[in-house]
Amino acid sequence: MDGLAGMPELSEVDVVRHFTRLSTWNYGVDTGMYPLGSCTMKYNPKINEVVARIAGFAHQHPLAPAEASQGSLLVLKLFEEALCEITGMTACSLQPAAGAQGELTGMMMIRARLEERGNPRRRVLIPDSAHGTNPASAALCGYEVVTVGSNERGLVDLDGLRRAAREDAAALMLTNPNTLGLFEEQIEEIVRIVHDAGGFVYMDGANMNALVGIARPGDMGIDVMHINVHKTLSTPHGGGGPGAGPVLVSAELEPFLPVPRIVRVADDRLEASVDAPRSVGRVRAFFGNFGVIVRGLAYVAANGPEGLREIAETAVLNANYLAERLGETYDIPYRGAFMHEVVFSDKWQRACGVTNADIAKRLIDYGFHPPTMSFPLIVPGALMVEPTESNGREELDIFVDAMKSIDREARENPSILTGAPHLTRIGRLDEVAAARRPVLRWKPET
Ligand SMILES: *Cc1c(COP(=O)(O)O)cnc(C)c1O
Repeated sequence: MDGLAGMPELSEVDVVRHFTRLSTWNYGVDTGMYPLGSCTMKYNPKINEVVARIAGFAHQHPLAPAEASQGSLLVLKLFEEALCEITGMTACSLQPAAGAQGELTGMMMIRARLEERGNPRRRVLIPDSAHGTNPASAALCGYEVVTVGSNERGLVDLDGLRRAAREDAAALMLTNPNTLGLFEEQIEEIVRIVHDAGGFVYMDGANMNALVGIARPGDMGIDVMHINVHKTLSTPHGGGGPGAGPVLVSAELEPFLPVPRIVRVADDRLEASVDAPRSVGRVRAFFGNFGVIVRGLAYVAANGPEGLREIAETAVLNANYLAERLGETYDIPYRGAFMHEVVFSDKWQRACGVTNADIAKRLIDYGFHPPTMSFPLIVPGALMVEPTESNGREELDIFVDAMKSIDREARENPSILTGAPHLTRIGRLDEVAAARRPVLRWKPET
């Protein structure tokens, strides 16, 4: 039966059953392991949700005057201070809504500072293992991207960097640990090379799961960075949001941070100030995704310094455990002491006509979300796995068994992989059509 607006009329029980049924067809981090390398899907403690729903936070109007917003302003200030302490940077803005927006904001600040010095320069140097948002952010900010190669160990090639770091280089955008899960051991030399050439070092700190509580980018000489709250500090994400990609800067770049800034005008009084003449301006309305920030603060406060350190230690241990247990079944092109993630490739399975996509689809049948695929670009057929600190040994062992079993299937019965998944409501999609012509909402039949 159709209602007035052409919408179907349904009873409550029909609606509840419909959505409950749909929810069981989905997969989430509460359903099982979600080994997305780089993109980090860790378990999100339920207490964060409780805190984010406290009425005083959830119902706070962003235009309320400062005297009626002291609690929310304090949350923002405390989180800025926590992030400064975690990263070793001088100052912070919580405004950017995602990692990519943090990158753009950081590059805008670098550009503003260089313009003030008299020359914005032309190029931004980016390693070939970088996340795709890095070159996009540099280009959006008007820079030409120069790719810096990796050496045979998967780390930045210093000679290549020295050649590229010339007087027209505005910045190096570096991910550390890089997207191969390897720590750039020569970070101090890398920073020195770029600084000597008069450029800035931007660190993509989207994923700091191996560093929190242990090592601080500020101590490594980084000038500006972002951190993804929705990766490193829990917070559910996916499907484009919601997120928070705060930017953190050195003292030299602090005057360029977006406005409003949250300032302490007295011991017990905070205000939002737009009095910052050198600021790059607003990059988003108000203070970013406030609910995400509340969750991030709850996570940091619940864990404390020792807890954060343990998170990093466990994340690193888990990644190395998987590398150790799967390293003879799946090729690992760049081996080393892994940090938060490990990148396998499908090289040994390709001989059987099986690709990383087939392996990923088959993993769904075994009850796992697929890992990140085909990235970083320097690893053909990449399967990038980040177990995070959330998974216990038992869960990791079940994942290892599934991966080993899939390898056996590749050799004995490859068609079971090329036709996977078999156990889901919907089988293999036409991925090109799904990306080019997505059906995102219900439309009435005409
Ligand atoms: C996820 C990620 C980004 C982009 O973050 P978004 O919040 O998705 O915009 C940038 N760099 C790295 C290394 C990432 O993992």
